[in-house]
Amino acid sequence: MIIGIDLGTTNSLVAIWRDGKASIIPNALGQHLTPSCVGMDDDGTVLIGEAARARLQTHPHMTAALFKRYMGSERKTQLGKQRFRPEELSSMVLRSLKEDAEAFLGHKVEEAIITVPAYFSDAQRKATRVAGQLAGLKVERLLNEPTAAALAYGIQDTQRETKFLVFDLGGGTFDVSILELFEGVMEVRASAGDNFLGGEDFVSAMVDAFQTRSGMAKAMDKQELTGSQRQRLRDEAERAKRVLSDAPKATMTFMYNGAEFTWELDEEVLANLCEPLMQRLRAPVERALRDATIKASELESVVLAGGATRMPLVRKLVSRMFGRFPQIHLDPDEAIALGAAVQAGLKMRDVALDEVVMTDVAPYSLGIGIARQVGPNDYEGGHFMPIIERNSTVPVSRVENITTIRDFQKELTVKVYQGEARLVSDNIYLGTLHFPIASKKAGEISADVRFTYDVSGVLEAEITVLPSQEKHKLVMSENAGVMTPQEIEQRLAELAELKIHPRDRIENRTLVAQADRLYEQLLGQEREYLAQYVAAFQSVLDKQDPIATRRARESLIQAMQQLDGGSFL
Ligand code: AMP
Repeated sequence: MIIGIDLGTTNSLVAIWRDGKASIIPNALGQHLTPSCVGMDDDGTVLIGEAARARLQTHPHMTAALFKRYMGSERKTQLGKQRFRPEELSSMVLRSLKEDAEAFLGHKVEEAIITVPAYFSDAQRKATRVAGQLAGLKVERLLNEPTAAALAYGIQDTQRETKFLVFDLGGGTFDVSILELFEGVMEVRASAGDNFLGGEDFVSAMVDAFQTRSGMAKAMDKQELTGSQRQRLRDEAERAKRVLSDAPKATMTFMYNGAEFTWELDEEVLANLCEPLMQRLRAPVERALRDATIKASELESVVLAGGATRMPLVRKLVSRMFGRFPQIHLDPDEAIALGAAVQAGLKMRDVALDEVVMTDVAPYSLGIGIARQVGPNDYEGGHFMPIIERNSTVPVSRVENITTIRDFQKELTVKVYQGEARLVSDNIYLGTLHFPIASKKAGEISADVRFTYDVSGVLEAEITVLPSQEKHKLVMSENAGVMTPQEIEQRLAELAELKIHPRDRIENRTLVAQADRLYEQLLGQEREYLAQYVAAFQSVLDKQDPIATRRARESLIQAMQQLDGGSFL
């Protein structure tokens, strides 16, 4: 049996092909989505999924998320006393999905098809295969995410040749791909996107608007919200956003300093509020069409993926842009995993769809660290200046000019990074060029920084100091981020030593993590009230009495619902 896995940035899913159709397998909590989060519990056991996600705020240094962004690099994450590579963290999510599939099927599972973004480079694909291996899975194949979405919609059954677009808007990333199916082979003709655009941005816009429109901003009198107040308000906006996907109106309510603030909004209000985001959704679509030299009218269909495409606003935008309704009869969160299961089904019958893998784009932005002016004579270091932007077709060569910012500075230091974050501390460090320069007043020395990135993933940074034309060069290889077979063997043994929280008890552990998160957001009597229920639940858990546990569990859930309306779940 081959399982299909969507290893996502925020959530992952596992699906199977059975009785002639693809279906999602629920996790130990009965949910389809498993957050791609890994954490270390206070006693050193590893928590995966919702239990880890609930601890992101309460235990940020013991929890890892978004590690898919660093696949194929050496960037390590510290959890407690240990450090993990991105493929190791991914392997724990995969292991947990594998166990869910085994519990559901009642037998061992050893093979999987795992989906990856179309723009993943060779190094990122290798890292994904290693993650599978570390999870005890033989990776039958990697499948491009847009191809998977298309398979879920049965495009290969209905048509022999077709061109279509996949519009994938998740929580924090937006990917557009144009695909062509030709003689049974799927080819990604172009891919574009925005690594920092997703459902979360709509929530941020609602949070900001709520404060002015509900009158809360006046009451705040320029005071900042605390971290937990901000989180509660975000949770409330998320709830309202989802209500608006099914109903014409939604009301947001928030208690601040003992007073209640409310704001009623409808789709029109949301549309006005989110117009800048809608503009940002249009740009990558236009870029992809241009890159593929295809007109919107030549596309035969538009496929939606990612939870945020449930928003009617987004669906309307897509319909307007393409002059037709998108395919929506599947749950957009599940389309990619279902497609992976369809491919698994085809593979088991030896008729898997072939793909041309596109590795001719730069998978991440490449740039340097710079100081930005924040006042008349005030500079702040640590900012990222991209030189080659993600998704540029390779080979590519781009140049940017930089100048000195300090009087009589004797040296120039240029640090090279890859990634999409605004601050270099959140990107991956690749190397440094450091050399002496003539001592002149600020701004009098400038230098051209040229980046050249080739098909095999080698980046060359060349700096030409003007006007002397003196050159300095640094060459970096992407394959530095790929583990060797010996390293894999060694890490397999080390990972086997880790204690993973047992699957059959994760439900209770998750509830405690969620209660801890809610506790941080509450104050005074409400806190006290919740603390009593948590303490009661924990003392029952220690006695290991199943009936008493179920009762205490239900009481705790009820108490949490009373306090929070259930948005903690
Ligand atoms: P994904 O990363 O694909 O799981 O997408 C998660 C995003 O989808 C989050 O930003 C959610 O807020 C959003 N989302 C999920 N369900 C809905 C819904 N019913 N209406 C609007 N947005 C949703």
